[in-house]
Amino acid sequence: MISKQPHVVIVTARCRVTRQLFGLRFEEVQAGRWVADWAFVLNETVSRREGYDRTTITGQFGLDAAYPGCPYCGATSLVKCGCGKVSCWDQQDRTVTCPWCGDRGEIRGTIESLDAGGDR
Ligand SMILES: [Zn+2]
Ligand SMILES: [Zn+2]
Repeated sequence: MISKQPHVVIVTARCRVTRQLFGLRFEEVQAGRWVADWAFVLNETVSRREGYDRTTITGQFGLDAAYPGCPYCGATSLVKCGCGKVSCWDQQDRTVTCPWCGDRGEIRGTIESLDAGGDR
């Protein structure tokens, strides 16, 4: 029997309310289907050292029922800006300001790729 190791990556996100970093744990539950099941407070220095943005994952992205929400403001969803970075989203505002680049944009479409790093 070969037991397949779960394919897990960490994506760095930023809270729209506090602008602080957090990590998202994504697991590939099926080929090309990624589900976020955990979010945790991330230190800026650690994030840089661990290289959480070395690879790009593609496919479909979703949230697990167990996803706890943003560790700072509790927002239960995510949004990706045109700059490629992810932030938390409360599913209320249709127009959001990206905490990474400051751009304002409308929420539309789905996430198709994310920059990620390995889990350790
Ligand atoms: Zn937040
Ligand atoms: Zn942005």
